[in-house]
Formats: sequence, C-alpha cells, structure tokens
Amino acid sequence: MDKKLKLAVIGHPISHSRSPEIHQDFANQFNAKIEFRKHDVTSDTLGTWLTDFFKDGGKGVSITLPIKEVALSFADEISDRARLASACNVIYAKDEKLFADCTDGFGLTQDLEGNLKTSLKNKKILILGAGGAARGIIPSIIEKYPAKLKIANRTGSKALLLKKDLEGKVNLKEKNIIFEAGGLSDDFLLSDSYDIVINSTSVSTQVGKSIGLPKALFSGTRLAYDLFYSAEKTVFMQEAFENGAEKVSDGWGMLVEQGAESFRLWTNLIPDTSRLLEKPID
Ligand code: NAP
Repeated sequence: MDKKLKLAVIGHPISHSRSPEIHQDFANQFNAKIEFRKHDVTSDTLGTWLTDFFKDGGKGVSITLPIKEVALSFADEISDRARLASACNVIYAKDEKLFADCTDGFGLTQDLEGNLKTSLKNKKILILGAGGAARGIIPSIIEKYPAKLKIANRTGSKALLLKKDLEGKVNLKEKNIIFEAGGLSDDFLLSDSYDIVINSTSVSTQVGKSIGLPKALFSGTRLAYDLFYSAEKTVFMQEAFENGAEKVSDGWGMLVEQGAESFRLWTNLIPDTSRLLEKPID
C-alpha cells in the first residue's frame, strides 16, 4: 500500500473519539500510510460530507453517534450485519460503490470470547438498553447460540419493538434461542439469573450515575460488561462486582476489535490488537 489511505471518523460530538489513535497504531504495524481525521458531521450535513469525502479519494469512514442509522441510506450495498442492526458504523468505497457494514457486534463478541475467554454458547444473557448499540450487538450475539437472550430497557415498549424487528429478520426458534423483552422492573429482571449481563444503556456516560438495578441481579453472573469505556470502573461495573459478578469489564476491547474489523474492510490487512488491549492509549 504505497498510496496514503484517506480515512475518517464522523459523528456529533466527535472530539472524544479515540479512533484516529487506534487506526494509526494498526497502520504502523504494516508501515501503511494513512490520513485519519475526526469530522463533526450531523444528519443534516452527512449526505454532502460523504459525497465530498469519497469524490476527494476517501477510502473509508467510521461512523458514530447519532448518525449510524441514517448513514445506511447513503450506501449502495448493505451487509447482512448492518441490515440486521438497521445501522452501520462503517462505510467504504470499493469497485465504484459505497458499502455499509456494522462491525460493533463483531467487536463485542471478539472481545468477550477471544480476549475475555467468555463463551456465549448456551449462556443466559441479559442486555440492558435497547438503543443503537443494542441493535448493533444483538445479531452477533445471536450468531453465537446463547440459550436465552433477554433485553430490558427503561422504555419497555422500545425493547419489545427491537425484539419484534429481529424476529422478523432472524429465525430464533430454529436456533433454539429463548428471546424475551421488557422494562427494567425488578420482577422482569429477577425472573432469571444470568451468566452474562451487558450494559448497553448510555447511563455510564454520566459519571457516578447508577441504573438502579436490584442487587440480586448479579448473583451467579460470570461477567458483567459495560459497553462504555473509561479509565475508571463505571458505577455499573462497581455495583456488579460488589453484588456477586465474578468478572467485570468495560468496552475498550470492543472498541479496539470493531476498529480492527473496520481496518480489515478498508485494507484487507488484519491488525494485531494485543498491544492496544494491554495498554490503552493515554
Ligand atoms: P442510545 O441509542 O442513545 O441508547 C441509550 C440507551 O440507554 C436507551 O436504551 C435508553 O433507554 C437507555 N438509558 C438512557 N438513560 C437511562 C437511564 N437513566 N436509565 C436507564 N436507561 C437509560 O445510545 P447507544 O448508541 O445505544 O450507546 C449506548 C452506550 O454504548 C454508550 O455508553 C456508548 O458509548 C456505548 N457504545 C460503546 C461502543 C464500543 O465500541 N465500546 C460502541 C457503541 C456504543 P430509553 O430507550 O428508555 O431512553
């Protein structure tokens, strides 16, 4: 790869994004030359921005909040992963076309199974939240054949809608997966115990804020995983650990692994993620 590859991450807000550092680390592994900038882009400016970026020789773009859903409509081809998620976190140019994909679910399952050695097969899994991140990760979790998948969201009707949408796209009965959705009531949450509890709510973005989960939720939990990433343990991670979860993790590994999968789509190169996983960039 002699030519400098033009890449970017877009969203609003965008200043917090760690993607440029992550992709520079990947590029350095192959002596590949990349330009990777952050751009503040909203749904109003997305169409014009994408047209200009790709006309100007852009190869690939990472897409973050709040434009993951709307970005789908600008692609010529949509991967199965993005179709199932109804959202994309990457768009790239290939053969004169724009391809949309969603690597968030791959990033999560790679972190859970590959890095944290926590298999999802035959496990009971609780997902808290039914927003964009939940949509992105659930199809990949389903591919790992859990025994039971339960979505609990503050707005229960949104969890039910997500369930209905997925049931229209995936044959869960054929996969023998029990799938339930509901609100955050103690009755619904405590009607099972869970091997894995995943926090996909945005609560951890507010420092010190608790979802207010019942303590008994974490008895028997092997891993409590917060999609949010931060240097300090989130309140969700602290509460899970104090109340019985064997292991807790934040979502740094997911961020690195989804980035590696996006990098592969752009370059056909598979980066080694181990250095970033060991030592997050300061
Ligand atoms: P989103 O679409 O805005 O969804 C937010 C979710 O959080 C909704 O389900 C919402 O419930 C729930 N919520 C918000 N405030 C709450 C509260 N006080 N109590 C209970 N539930 C509450 O956001 P998103 O895109 O799904 O992102 C969620 C999280 O995932 C963020 O922390 C983000 O940083 C993280 N994330 C990480 C990665 C990674 O690579 N590690 C990738 C993507 C996202 P309602 O429906 O009731 O409003």
